[in-house]
Amino acid sequence: MTTGDEEKSAMATGDVAADNTVARFSGNGVIAFDKVDLGPVPPGEVRLRVEVCALCGSDKRLLAAGSPVVPGHEIAGVVVDVGDAGGPADAAGHAVRVGTRGIVYIPVYCGSCAQCAKGRTNRCLRLGELIGWQRDGGFADYVDVPARCVIPVPDDIGLDVAVLGLDTVGTAAHGLRMALATQPDPPQRLLVVGCGPLGLGVVAVAQQLGVPEVHAFDPNDARLALARAGGARQATDVDSENQYDIAVEVSGAEPARELAQRVIVPGGAVLALGESNSPYTMPATPRWRRTDCFTVRSFYFPLDEVADNWELLRRCGPTLRDRLATPLTLPDLPEAFESFAAGDQLKPFIVHTAH
Ligand SMILES: [Zn+2]
Ligand SMILES: [Zn+2]
Repeated sequence: MTTGDEEKSAMATGDVAADNTVARFSGNGVIAFDKVDLGPVPPGEVRLRVEVCALCGSDKRLLAAGSPVVPGHEIAGVVVDVGDAGGPADAAGHAVRVGTRGIVYIPVYCGSCAQCAKGRTNRCLRLGELIGWQRDGGFADYVDVPARCVIPVPDDIGLDVAVLGLDTVGTAAHGLRMALATQPDPPQRLLVVGCGPLGLGVVAVAQQLGVPEVHAFDPNDARLALARAGGARQATDVDSENQYDIAVEVSGAEPARELAQRVIVPGGAVLALGESNSPYTMPATPRWRRTDCFTVRSFYFPLDEVADNWELLRRCGPTLRDRLATPLTLPDLPEAFESFAAGDQLKPFIVHTAH
C-alpha cells in the first residue's frame, strides 16, 4: 500500500490513460478485460487513476447478471487530468486539480434540489446514475467521474484506509446515526446480524458512536471471530424477544431479517443495511402488530457526514483495513471474486500497479 507522497510522485512520472484496461462482467460469473481509450475528459469531470477499488458483496449480483458498464464502486484514486481548465468544482465548490487524492461518491447527485441543498446528497430528488452501476466504475486503470463526486482525502489518511470511508464506514455510520436518532434514550445493546465487511464496519463504528454493548451473530465462525476481535461479544440467544435496542441486519437474508425483527425491544429499531433482491416482508405477528418499532434503511451516506467520518476512520480505519483487506491487482480480478465468493477473502482491494 502507498503513502500520499508515493501516490503523488507516481502521478508526476506521467500517465498514459490511452493504455487503459477495464474489466467487463458478461454474466454467469465471467470477467473479461478490454482496452478502452477514454479520450478527452468531459467538462465537469475529472480522470482518476484508480489506486484502490474494493470488491463489494453487491458486485456479485453484477457478476451473475452481467453489466453494460465497468463495475467497481468503492474507488480511491488520484486525479491525473481534468475536463475544465483550472479544475472543475468538487462537492465543496473547490477546484479539483491534478494530483488531488480522492475517494469517489457514487450517487451522481444533482446538487441543486431541496435535499442536496441541505447536504443530504444520498437523498437527491433527481438522483441519476450510480457510479459502477449505471456508469463506468473502478475496475479499471482509469475512470472519469463528475468532479462533484470526488471527495478529497486528508493528507494524513492513506487511500487504502480512505476507501473504507465509502461503504464500510460511511454507510455503516450513516445507518447507525439514523437508527440512534430513533431512540429517546442512549441505546445500551446493539446486535449486528451478519459479520461480513459491512457488518464488521458496523461493529467498529457502533462502539465509536458510544454503544456500550455490541453483540454479533454470524453462522460463520471465522467471521464471528473477527467481530469478537473487533470488540463485539458473541450473541448467545437470538431466539428471545426484548433483547436489543437496535438490531442491524447486514446480510440481506430473510432469516436474518426475521431474527433482527424478533430480538428488538418494544420501541427498538431494525437497521436494514443488507442487499438483496428478495422482497422485504414484515411478519404481521401479534407481537409486531401490538408494539412500536422502527425499520431504518439506508444504502449510502450524505456528504455532510464526511468530516465526521474522517474522524471515525482515523480511529478505527487502519485496524479495519488490516483485518479486512487483501491487496490484489486488476488482472487478479477473476480469482479475487472466486475467493471472495467462497468467503476466503473478506475484502479484496484491487490496487494500481505501475505499467
Ligand atoms: Zn458496495
Ligand atoms: Zn439533488
